Amino acid sequence: MLLRLAGAILGLFMSGLPAAAADFDDPRRVYLALDEAADAVVECGGGRIRVVFADGARGLDRDRVLAWVRRAATAVTTYFGRFPVDDVGLLVIADGGDRVKTGTTFGFHGSAIRVIVGRDASDDAFARDWVLTHEMVHLALPQMDERFLWLLEGSAVYVEPVARAMAGQIPAEAVWRDALSGMPKGEPEADDRGLDFTPTWGRTYWGGAIFCLLADIAIRQQSEGRHSLRDAFTAINRASGGNTAYWSMEEIIATGDRATGTDALAELYAKMSAVPSPADLPALFAALGVRAEGGAILFDDSAPLAPIRRAITAN
Ligand SMILES: [Zn+2]
Repeated sequence: MLLRLAGAILGLFMSGLPAAAADFDDPRRVYLALDEAADAVVECGGGRIRVVFADGARGLDRDRVLAWVRRAATAVTTYFGRFPVDDVGLLVIADGGDRVKTGTTFGFHGSAIRVIVGRDASDDAFARDWVLTHEMVHLALPQMDERFLWLLEGSAVYVEPVARAMAGQIPAEAVWRDALSGMPKGEPEADDRGLDFTPTWGRTYWGGAIFCLLADIAIRQQSEGRHSLRDAFTAINRASGGNTAYWSMEEIIATGDRATGTDALAELYAKMSAVPSPADLPALFAALGVRAEGGAILFDDSAPLAPIRRAITAN
């Protein structure tokens, strides 16, 4: 999840509101809390994660939380070749429940992530969590105009499981299980007007992820396996410095395509941005050699795009 707030942050600082609020829904309160001294600092991949436990986050096992932070940071570092920003504040809020509940990433006053964690979350719940990795992927790309939210959410949805698989945290099967079950929700429906003009949940999260999968395949094909979407995203991350920057779609496409020596992003964007352009997922998954059968994920290594499917999760 991403949240953008235009301005107003300085106004709150100057108004002198107390930082000890029980409610951190307001992102300005998140920044105020993160201005406090960190409870812990996690260093990973050249980045510094300042962890603040909101109001002490009583009931949370801090060692367990910090191990989980390090695991998510390791996944995004594996994908991007370094941690995507030099510095981020991570506000951990304790709540009821037995799992990681939700996260939001902000970039308008330094990089910040707010995550809500159930006090009864087990080691297993932390190990299975995808939320924090998703949020850390959001640190990598610059903010963009509202109508391009599908690329920001789609990239996080697409990269999160790939990064965890590359880091050896989940099997490749889990990546494709997500894609098989999730991507059909991202195909255009009857009244679709293309990715830029159809801001539904399905098109924003999964439509954007379909765009990323198609881009990854196209880049690998056009570059004869020398480059991938990872090279494009990594170049955009390095050139922008991450989610405190604000870029146009033209800058994203030009920087990404230059890094891979292809026109893949420009071509796909022209094809999918303003018209429905369904992906024909059944044919795509068949070509990649992946299918679900009785709860299992099965691979066919004789399928034409099987080498690309394997390369996507290889490190
Ligand atoms: Zn998100």
